[in-house]
Amino acid sequence: MRFETKAIHAGQDPDAATGAVIVPVYQTSTFLQEAIGRHKGYEYSRTANPTRRALEAAIASLEEGRYGLAFSSGVAATTAVFSALQTGDHVIVGDDIYGGTFRLLEKVFKKWVLAVSYADVDTLHSFNSLIRKKTRLIWSETPTNPLLKIIDIKKLSSVAHRHKVKLAVDNTFASPYFQKPLLLGADIVVHSTTKYIAGHSDAIGGAVVTNDEEYYREIKFYQNAAGAVPGIWDSWLVLRGIKTLAVRMRAHQENAVCLARYLSRHPKISRVYYPGLRASPGYALAKKQMQGFGGMISIELKGGRREVEKFFSSLKIFLLAESLGGVESLICYPSQMTHASMTYKERLKRRIRDNLVRISVGIENKFDLKRDLQQALLAV
Ligand SMILES: *Cc1c(COP(=O)(O)O)cnc(C)c1O
Repeated sequence: MRFETKAIHAGQDPDAATGAVIVPVYQTSTFLQEAIGRHKGYEYSRTANPTRRALEAAIASLEEGRYGLAFSSGVAATTAVFSALQTGDHVIVGDDIYGGTFRLLEKVFKKWVLAVSYADVDTLHSFNSLIRKKTRLIWSETPTNPLLKIIDIKKLSSVAHRHKVKLAVDNTFASPYFQKPLLLGADIVVHSTTKYIAGHSDAIGGAVVTNDEEYYREIKFYQNAAGAVPGIWDSWLVLRGIKTLAVRMRAHQENAVCLARYLSRHPKISRVYYPGLRASPGYALAKKQMQGFGGMISIELKGGRREVEKFFSSLKIFLLAESLGGVESLICYPSQMTHASMTYKERLKRRIRDNLVRISVGIENKFDLKRDLQQALLAV
């Protein structure tokens, strides 16, 4: 089956008991046991729930993975992956990352004596040169947040595997429609399903996908033991979102290409980050390893915070808000929002300056979006 078909059917067989075409919301905490230890595969909803199970099967299938596990948030899924490590282990993390991942490593895992090094995502060599005897995991996003850099997953996986290190890729920005890291050699895929996968800005969730059975068992054990599972209703919402993932991603991309081209010619904008622009440093690699460029754009406005504030307050359709990947267009200010958990120095090192704006292009009409940007930039 191809992607669009799997999005609608994988893990989503009609309900055996009633014939319901849509997987029901099994809003129950517990399940009847006919006798001690004799049940239909479900005992307690933290451990397993049929609605969540359908979601896990669907996500695994879209990523071309064998096993999927759903979590209560992207951060909870990330926590699960880092929790599988031991005190004293070392991880290498691509330096252009979601602020919350950085905060989790710096403020939570470092306390547990996890050694963390940040590699410059612009070169594979920087990952390679940081490998030590205790390195267990390489973690990266691609496209990265917020600068939309592209990292060669295939090459990074050979660097990792040469040293018997696992590679985890946070695939949130691309979504499995545009990129399947497991097929490129990654061992673990992580998602904030809050974003494109759910797609409607109405649920928080996360997922881990892998082909490695032993690793799956370990994370599944952790999922139940630590307990950061998604609610049943939220699982259903994410599953519902998945059905339209393909059509939404195509629409996000069509609009993003149109706006990125427009913005890259605008005199009030000094720089546009979008891997789908031919002039972008990531273009050739993105074309090779992805099936599309996605719907995220970052721009640098000429000027600073004052100009950005004027721009934001003049927008009528784009909403100033954190998050991304929903049907509505959002705009955000990474230095004070998604990446506020980094210090000024950390942000500067990553080129997250006070004129950087991140845009999550929605699926509204692209001419309306362009006109909105046009009039707001005129006001700057
Ligand atoms: C949002 C996000 C996360 C965290 O996910 P939550 O669902 O907000 O916990 C992790 N990685 C990336 C790339 C994100 O955009």
